Amino acid sequence: MEKQDLLASIPPINEIKEELKSLYPKVLEKLLVLVAREAASQIRQEVLAGKRGTLNKEEVLKLARKILEKKLKPSLVRVINATGVVVHTNLGRSPLAREALEAIEEISAYYSNLEYDLATGKRGSRYVHVEEIVREITGAEAALVVNNNAAAVLLTLNTLALGKEVIVSRGELVEIGGAFRIPDVMARSGAILREVGATNRTHLRDYEEAINENTALLLKVHKSNYALLGFTKEVSGKDLVELGRKYNLPVVEDLGSGCFVDLSKFGLPKEPTVQEVLAAGIDVVTFSGDKLLGGPQAGIIVGRKELIHAIRKNPLNRAVRIDKMTIAGLEATLRLYRDEKEALFKIPTLHFITLPPEEIKKKAIRLKNRLRKRLPKEVKLKIVDTISRVGGGAMPLANPSSYALAIETPRLSASRLERSLRNASPPIIGRIEDDLFLLDMRTVFPEEIPIISEVLEKIFEEV
Ligand SMILES: *Cc1c(COP(=O)(O)O)cnc(C)c1O
Repeated sequence: MEKQDLLASIPPINEIKEELKSLYPKVLEKLLVLVAREAASQIRQEVLAGKRGTLNKEEVLKLARKILEKKLKPSLVRVINATGVVVHTNLGRSPLAREALEAIEEISAYYSNLEYDLATGKRGSRYVHVEEIVREITGAEAALVVNNNAAAVLLTLNTLALGKEVIVSRGELVEIGGAFRIPDVMARSGAILREVGATNRTHLRDYEEAINENTALLLKVHKSNYALLGFTKEVSGKDLVELGRKYNLPVVEDLGSGCFVDLSKFGLPKEPTVQEVLAAGIDVVTFSGDKLLGGPQAGIIVGRKELIHAIRKNPLNRAVRIDKMTIAGLEATLRLYRDEKEALFKIPTLHFITLPPEEIKKKAIRLKNRLRKRLPKEVKLKIVDTISRVGGGAMPLANPSSYALAIETPRLSASRLERSLRNASPPIIGRIEDDLFLLDMRTVFPEEIPIISEVLEKIFEEV
């Protein structure tokens, strides 16, 4: 058919809408019209692009139904993380502890003392709700929480170094992903980047030689998502602090992930905890709430009282301020850290990161046994050794041993299987390694095992 004829055969919007209405009598008319327009317009584009040689009404309706079905479902949905990457930035970073969820529900369903001092009956500050507990855990003089760590860095630099120089090692000018690059954030903060050293080696004298009357501070940035190996030299926080004291300059460290628990006890690489960084004398430390800490998205700034107070008073703080749901979730998460054992057990991120391989294997066996009874015989199920990742730009060199369930079937290629699970409800995200589809069980909650089983049963019924 000619393009003109094809275009002419697209049913009128009203007709598409009426057809939809007969199928979805409860959906609002307004939405049906929107969908009918979208479907017609998409078909028109396809015709004009020469992608359609024929056209019938059924095809248009099928597309309209698909568009409507998608609109009727929420865009943000829960997924099952079987990638083994614990702090998976694309999958929402840290799942929250029950305690955090309960606090968020209570505080957001009702009114709260967010900015109301119950003792005096006067206006209060939202920051007090987490400041005390952060100070208690970290030993910091003062603390401030903002929307995320990127905001924490921006706000800190803008407060302490506007129009002045900030000295950073060239080995630490990192890009975290999602367009967070230290030099770009620095430029937007109004601070002037003064890079020193070489990519692989920076010495204390490099910092010292760069100090001048326009220097505001010395900055150390955690190399979150990469490692420098080989012929390298990095100046320790302690040495930077000594230099800072000599010239009366504050030392700021962007710790990135930030952790309160020494995870080297669990066979992970030694990373300084927030407490250790503060004890080394760093004046201001910033870190994320939703990476290794395992809480909601937040940026936490801790350090010397007069500096934190100046940062709090910066008008930009209002633009990056933390909301009440986050405060509720963060406070509840932080309270769990009073008892390290409790934190490791109840905070899902910490629990998954420290889960011993034998425990992961048990989950893999449970899933395998369940599936064996329910999936067709020709589906091969095998438990394989694999390596998980901490993720979230933390501990790039850590490779904790894990177990995965490998699923193989002559009916579906690994990539088809991966796609089917990704498009299921709920979506299940696994990974393909050497042409084999794997479900890494480290990051799978025990209660998700029956869900994975049901989804797979359905997939194999349909193919
Ligand atoms: C992750 C990270 C950030 C950004 O933190 P967000 O909480 O994602 O805003 C900044 N600096 C470093 C070193 C990081 O690892």
